[in-house]
Amino acid sequence: MSSDATRGADDMIGDGTLAVRAGLPEPVKYEPTLPGPVFAAHFHLPGEPTGPYTYGRDENPTWTHLERAISALEAPGESGVETLVFASGMAAISAVLFSQLKAGDVVVVPSDGYQAVPLVHEQLRAYGVEVRSAPTGGDAQLSVLAGAKLLWIETPSNPGLDVCDLRRLADAAHEAGALVAVDNTLATPLGQRPLLLGADFSVASDTKGMSGHGDLLLGHVSCRDAERAAEVRRWRKIVGAIPGPMEAWLAHRSLATLQLRIDRQCGTALAVAEALKGHRHVTGLRYPGLPDDPSHEVAARQMRRFGSVISFELPDRAWAEHFLGALHLVEEATSFGGVRSTAERRGRWGGDAVPEGFVRFSVGAEDPEDLITDVLRALDETAKALG
Ligand code: PLP
Repeated sequence: MSSDATRGADDMIGDGTLAVRAGLPEPVKYEPTLPGPVFAAHFHLPGEPTGPYTYGRDENPTWTHLERAISALEAPGESGVETLVFASGMAAISAVLFSQLKAGDVVVVPSDGYQAVPLVHEQLRAYGVEVRSAPTGGDAQLSVLAGAKLLWIETPSNPGLDVCDLRRLADAAHEAGALVAVDNTLATPLGQRPLLLGADFSVASDTKGMSGHGDLLLGHVSCRDAERAAEVRRWRKIVGAIPGPMEAWLAHRSLATLQLRIDRQCGTALAVAEALKGHRHVTGLRYPGLPDDPSHEVAARQMRRFGSVISFELPDRAWAEHFLGALHLVEEATSFGGVRSTAERRGRWGGDAVPEGFVRFSVGAEDPEDLITDVLRALDETAKALG
């Protein structure tokens, strides 16, 4: 099967087929299906220095394959989407913010989003950009939109798991003359497709669910507008926040199992959430896939899968710490979206407005029964130890 044939039919094929074929080059006799990483600082370039491959900070064939794959996942069947890969999610986020905003501009950001981003906001303020914030839930960002150049959305938000109506916010922002960027890290394109819901930029940390094995850092920006893409590309070139070819290749290899991993993880996340529901020591349980979650109605309208992250509160810090230490199958670690379950007491970082006993739990690809047994046992043991 030629990848061209697959590309033409991308909007009709299933997610699993899309994931395993995304970004593959035309088959070449005796060549591998997915060519190995190209390690090159420079490329042979006699005569006029024209592309596609001139210098390793500008382009690399391994990135090209991955970028095509991500574009196919972000907007199946569309040919005009451009994706740029970066050294990390933060590099991708910064590329959009710093390539699009200048002194005197206004940006609207979520007040409950990923906690490293406020550092970027500090930097934007230092450069004369006005940063306004509002919570994700209830579409509250709409209330501070007037005069903004860019609306930054993170839905579901990390770690609170609130959801806003992407289509509604994107339409309102465009009406007000603002661009819209969505941090889609938690959902991945198989969970939600921001470009199809009206966003100008879909941005993600591919360190998480996209690559899914907890062994590399990577980020990407996808957009439809060639001029905007050129601005982001220019930023990547001048800052040099580029991924290594090995990371790019590993990420592409991992995309082949994206649908398998995400389906398994989302199914298990719902099962774990159901098992925790009503537990006498668990409060504030959140998972957008739970039918009675405050976010469910909006999430169900725009998401095709609800993600691998759940959150809940235990009575206090000592409770949360004991629980995390008592788990056998869940590593205590930050990050999320990987095949091995991880969890952490989010308050230990000090940046999120969460209670001391707040736990963010990233559900992996373990057997659901094993994971649920482990979680309920750890809760019982903690209750016995702490009363
Ligand atoms: N966006 C979200 C929602 C995140 O959770 C993270 C990291 O946890 C990032 C962006 C930053 O990604 P990276 O660590 O790959 O720079």
